[in-house]
Amino acid sequence: MQYISTRAAQGQAQPKRFCEILLEGLAPDGGLYLPTHYPQVSSEALMRWRTLPYADLAFEILSLYVDDIPEADLRTLCRKTYTAEVFGSEAIVPLKRLEEGLYLQALSNGPTLAFKDMAMQLLGNLFEYELARHGEELNIFGATSGDTGSAAEYAMRGKKGVRVFMTSPDGRMSPFQQAQMFSLLDDNIYNIAIRGVFDDCQDLVKAVSNDLAFKQGYKIGTVNSINWARLMAQVVYYFAGYFQATTSNTERVSFCVPSGNFGNVCAGHVARMMGLPIEKLVVATNENDVLDEFFRTGVYRVRGSADTQETSSPSMDISKASNFERFVFDLLGRDSARVTDLFGAGLARDGTFDLHADPLFAQAASVYGFASGKSTHADRIATIRDTWQRYGVIVDPHTADGLKVAQLHRQAGIPMVVLETALPIKFASTIVQALGREPERPAKFVGIEDLPKRVQVMDADVQAIKAYITAACA
Ligand SMILES: *Cc1c(COP(=O)(O)O)cnc(C)c1O
Repeated sequence: MQYISTRAAQGQAQPKRFCEILLEGLAPDGGLYLPTHYPQVSSEALMRWRTLPYADLAFEILSLYVDDIPEADLRTLCRKTYTAEVFGSEAIVPLKRLEEGLYLQALSNGPTLAFKDMAMQLLGNLFEYELARHGEELNIFGATSGDTGSAAEYAMRGKKGVRVFMTSPDGRMSPFQQAQMFSLLDDNIYNIAIRGVFDDCQDLVKAVSNDLAFKQGYKIGTVNSINWARLMAQVVYYFAGYFQATTSNTERVSFCVPSGNFGNVCAGHVARMMGLPIEKLVVATNENDVLDEFFRTGVYRVRGSADTQETSSPSMDISKASNFERFVFDLLGRDSARVTDLFGAGLARDGTFDLHADPLFAQAASVYGFASGKSTHADRIATIRDTWQRYGVIVDPHTADGLKVAQLHRQAGIPMVVLETALPIKFASTIVQALGREPERPAKFVGIEDLPKRVQVMDADVQAIKAYITAACA
């Protein structure tokens, strides 16, 4: 399998293999990596995969995309990653039936209680393996407002050859999220609380990455959601969800996905392109409805930070959807010149593009199965209440957005699987607002607010950050 950039100049594409893009973020031309084609899964393979344990299913799917890691090693990495011990059950991503035709798929029973663990845990093991093969080191430098940073730290803690420097806005994460991150005392984990807001943290990451000499000298890398390996790992749970919701491969299933950067649902798109019988891929957004607007109108309009709202489903508070370019690349028949124009110069100049008049736009729904909807704070609260009253189940605010939007797109005879992207305990104050009670706390998180913490508070000063990294690497 080879990989190309969504912006590769036609005829000049230099395809790369998996391990060459594993540690990379954006392609050098500013595009995102995608496989040159989507491997097709036969119905015999689907039959065979139906009964596999999750780790072996992951191996089967990954081996279609990774041909530069020996099979035995790849299988070992999958088995080491997807264990009942780490993910809380043998099923790893168990399906919960709410009522006839409506399911929740649990993706949030990993170490940080959000779906990002599904991919990040694998990434930790892949990084360690690949760095050891070449005797190299990597310093991950990132910015987080909550879920991504902690998932990265829990995946990389104690891993050889990797350090994590994670900035977050000082005092702005929930007490639970702060406790989760700052209580990690591993030598290779560096928490940096920045006096400022999330955008200041992101600006620091950009400034350091733009200093090419520093970036190369200190082997600076990222683990953001555009990393292909993360997306690939997420493809697996669409298969696992499909198998649990059906008894034969002639049935079709729809998925509804609480979305922000379009990483999760883009993995669903890849699964569907591989031939998994998915009917609809429903994109659920919160008040930051960049994606819902596109699927309804054909207009993609990124927001400025002033137009990006802080909501009660904060992990979906995005101003632009960083993985969206991948889908548009497919939608436009993989016309990389057009993608370069739309996402490069076009977006930088206008902050928007409009595909509504292009006949290909209609195919987003008719050929690719996409649908969308938006959920607001009031919807979220009502859905949390309703789900509790009807089914005795407490869902987190992001999953509530998914459930709300799923109701708009259900079809008779086609199961709707809503992806549960976090556990409610991470967002307790919204649950209290909706239900007047605290959600249950898994035993291993009882009392984490009282654990010793390690965090360095710093100003948003690029020179100071570089000096900090330099000292840590000495
Ligand atoms: C990251 C996240 C999302 C959004 O996922 P994308 O891949 O960015 O679309 C939704 N819910 C939760 C809880 C998250 O952490």
